Amino acid sequence: MTKYYILFGPPGAGKGTQAGTLAKDYNLKHISTGELLRAEIAAGTELGIQAKELIAAGRLVPDTVVEGMIKSAFETVKGYDGFLLDGFPRNISQAKDLDDILAGRGESVTAVISIMISDEMIRERIKHRAAIEGRADDASDETITNRIDTYHSQTEPLIQYYKECGKYHEANGTGTIEEVYARLKAIM
Ligand code: ADP
Repeated sequence: MTKYYILFGPPGAGKGTQAGTLAKDYNLKHISTGELLRAEIAAGTELGIQAKELIAAGRLVPDTVVEGMIKSAFETVKGYDGFLLDGFPRNISQAKDLDDILAGRGESVTAVISIMISDEMIRERIKHRAAIEGRADDASDETITNRIDTYHSQTEPLIQYYKECGKYHEANGTGTIEEVYARLKAIM
C-alpha cells in the first residue's frame, strides 16, 4: 500500500528542510508544490507566468493548477514506498480533492504531520531565508503578511479537517533542525 504523508505547517515552519531528510529516511518521494511552481516560473512556462503574480502577492494559485501537478506525480513516480507532500493541500477544497484522487486509486492519506511555530517566528524565519535564498515572495513585509493571513484563513482549517479523521499529529517547530527532526521521527 502506497503511503501518503502530508507535511503541514505555516510558511517558514521548516517543512522543506525537514522533508528532504524525512523523504530519504523513509524512501518517500518529496513533492513540494511551491518548488514545482518556482521551477515553472524559472522555465517561463504559461503556468509559471500565471503563478508568478499570485505567489508574489502571497495568495494561493488556483487549485486546478496544483492538483494537476500532484496527480501527474502520483501517476508517474515509481520506486518509492510513498509520497511526502509539502505545501499541499493548502485549503479545504484541495484536501477534499486529494481524498477523491486517492479514493480513485483505492488509497487514502496515511497521516498529517504538522510543524508548528508562532506568527512571530514565521516572520523571523522568512526574513532569515530571504537573505539566503533570495525568494521573491520572502522579500517584502507586505507579502509575508499576506502569506500569514492566507495561512490562517485558508490553510489552518485543515487542522480540524484532519483531526476529525484522526490523522493529525503535531510537532513543536522551535529549536534546532535536529531537535525538530527527532520530534517528527517520533511521530512517524
Ligand atoms: P512556504 O511554505 O514558505 O509558504 P511554498 O514554497 O510552499 O512556501 O509556497 C510558495 C507559494 O506557492 C505559496 O505562497 C503559494 O502562492 C504557492 N503555492 C504552493 N503550494 C500551493 C498550493 N497547494 N495551492 C495553492 N498555492 C500554492
